[in-house]
Amino acid sequence: MALIEIRDLYKIYDSGAIQVNALGGVSLDIQQGEFVVITGPSGSGKSTLMNILGCLDRPTKGQYRLNGQEVARMNPNQLADLRINTIGFVFQNFNLLSRTSAAENVELPLLYAGVPKRERAERVKTALSRVGLAERMDHHPNQLSGGQQQRVAIARALVTRPPLILADEPTGNLDSRTTDEVMDLFDELVADGITIVLVTHEPEIADRAKRVVIVRDGHIKDDRLNKKPAGPSRYIEGV
Ligand code: ADP
Repeated sequence: MALIEIRDLYKIYDSGAIQVNALGGVSLDIQQGEFVVITGPSGSGKSTLMNILGCLDRPTKGQYRLNGQEVARMNPNQLADLRINTIGFVFQNFNLLSRTSAAENVELPLLYAGVPKRERAERVKTALSRVGLAERMDHHPNQLSGGQQQRVAIARALVTRPPLILADEPTGNLDSRTTDEVMDLFDELVADGITIVLVTHEPEIADRAKRVVIVRDGHIKDDRLNKKPAGPSRYIEGV
């Protein structure tokens, strides 16, 4: 069973006078442990697809099974449960709370999930260590570099131990060296068995992934395996 199974998915935005076919019949399977980059030009439907994958929006028609569960039939509470147990989100702007420490930011999803205090503390520590920031637990976001802030956000995504991470332009605000560090970290997480689906419009990010799905005008135009993904640490060679 694939972790993600999408069949003939449509999303039509209907604002009365105009209808926009943002997705026009998309089918896609993603297996546990895959690293998939979804790319395509602006307006092609990437965000729409990502929002549906993240159970933040519903398709107009078609099937979406996540971890064996039919998403379309769920009520809002069931969807919220599925989201918190199954998906970690990483965003372009990190979306950290500015007046709280790295540790408190990472703890937040565990509070929502009702995890007891002592276990929360342990899991926060483990997640921040996993991204190399155990020493920065008490720092606030404005005391951290962009790359460090994104690593805190990745720790927050990991702390609920989801099988899937959805990353929306996660390197869009990072320089090329930090981009490479974040991509290396994603490679490590995939090696640990986590599934990552990453949306980007940057071709050099797509070149790094094993599998690249190209979306255009609401359709999948290409779904290919890169025989030789650009290796890790490409930018810092020779430094
Ligand atoms: P991308 O993320 O690739 O830039 P989007 O998924 O944001 O593409 O958009 C796909 C198409 O759907 C575009 O034509 C966009 O204008 C349209 N669209 C996106 N969101 C809405 C909305 N809430 N209402 C109406 N049209 C929308």
